[in-house]
Amino acid sequence: MCGIFGIYGHPEAAKMAYLGLHALQHRGQESAGIVTSDGTRLYTSRKMGLVADAFPPCELERLVGSAAIGHVRYSTAGESRIQEAQPFAVGCRHGSVAVAHNGNFVNVEAVRTNLETKGSIFQSSADTEVIVHLMARSQADDLAARLTDALRQVRGAYSLLVLTAESMVACRDPFGVRPLVLGRLRGGFVLASETSAFRLLDATYIREVEPGELLVVDGNGLTSHFPWGRQERRFCVFEQVYFARPDTIIDDRTIYQDRVRMGQRLADEHPVEADVVVGVPDSGLPAAIGYSQKSGIPLELGLIRSHYVGRTFIEPQQSIRHFGVKLKLSAVETVLVGKRVVVVDDSIVRGTTCRKIIKMIRAAGAKEVHFRVSSPPTKFPCYYGIDTPHRRELIAASHSVEEITQFLDCDTIGYLSVEGLRWSVGDQDGAHHCEACFTGDYPIEVSDHVRERQLKLVGT
Ligand code: SF4
Repeated sequence: MCGIFGIYGHPEAAKMAYLGLHALQHRGQESAGIVTSDGTRLYTSRKMGLVADAFPPCELERLVGSAAIGHVRYSTAGESRIQEAQPFAVGCRHGSVAVAHNGNFVNVEAVRTNLETKGSIFQSSADTEVIVHLMARSQADDLAARLTDALRQVRGAYSLLVLTAESMVACRDPFGVRPLVLGRLRGGFVLASETSAFRLLDATYIREVEPGELLVVDGNGLTSHFPWGRQERRFCVFEQVYFARPDTIIDDRTIYQDRVRMGQRLADEHPVEADVVVGVPDSGLPAAIGYSQKSGIPLELGLIRSHYVGRTFIEPQQSIRHFGVKLKLSAVETVLVGKRVVVVDDSIVRGTTCRKIIKMIRAAGAKEVHFRVSSPPTKFPCYYGIDTPHRRELIAASHSVEEITQFLDCDTIGYLSVEGLRWSVGDQDGAHHCEACFTGDYPIEVSDHVRERQLKLVGT
């Protein structure tokens, strides 16, 4: 995942970046970073943890300047330590440069090995540092050309923000797999992974950065380039299913609307006689609303989520580790007891969490549990920056719907079809999205190194 934010031409750039990152916190909670420019030099701050904890007021005061880029990290490639936190900021013969990146490069191992052979020394295992090294080695005259040089040598899904003392560059991979949007704030420019960041700042949304587009923002304003030509857009459909915040706008519709449509279509494709519809909070709720609207079965809050359990929660003792999903979710017995319950969630990955949720609903007295999933079976891993497990761990890759029903211990399961998902996001033939985790049709070729690395990450 990861979220990126950039601002140029604002007297309080660091504070705006802080707020923008806060609105993107759902995209990564492992570390946060901001780099600012005052026109002469860069100022850097990177911390582990949440945005609100990482930048106390005194730290923001230190980050002077009218331009900033920021990053919230969710580790996919790379380890969990401060050296991996972004933006990466280095000094080289071209001056200081900072890079914030969302995505994955699929041929990065070969490029990294080649650079190491030539003497490059890496501080981290993150893909982003490779880009910094490639830019430093470029003979080109200006920042945009150096970045273009670097990106010509890698393949992958990425949105990038690059900051120097004088200018900022934003770019998106030729297929536009990862999101990046452009807006305006008080005469300056803002860029973010999602429009939800603009809403908080009262910035005006202008448009998406186009697939393959490279934008330069400097004292002369904004200029647009397409160094790689234009490809068909293949935006990650999982952003619409799960990752993006419901108030974010993509293709002139909110993510919320898309998820409600997924639920409506799911009710058409997998109807069932039941008494109550319950969404798994938070991301399953809009689809549950859609299912209820279409089926006429009343929606109730049968599951309550604790908002105080983050990814980094460490269960302190072996004796309470088995509490697991109960720390995050709690069943409301008065809603569930004696009822035939439709449970709606956005996806089933390994199946272990869904199994615990169903057990919890049954323990609360539900008579029947019908599980409905607002996406197709997840059968293939993501190599483009989303933290899905290897195929071997994806339950739908090796089990039939009947076997999954048995494993989850529910009465029935219904997955949204691929056609249903396409209808929900307004892409009838699926030509404008990456759907590879459902179909195995990867728009960007994946090297054997990356496939092997994912195998190693899951310890198989
Ligand atoms: S493989 Fe799945 S998660 Fe990864 S970019 Fe494609 S649709 Fe998104």
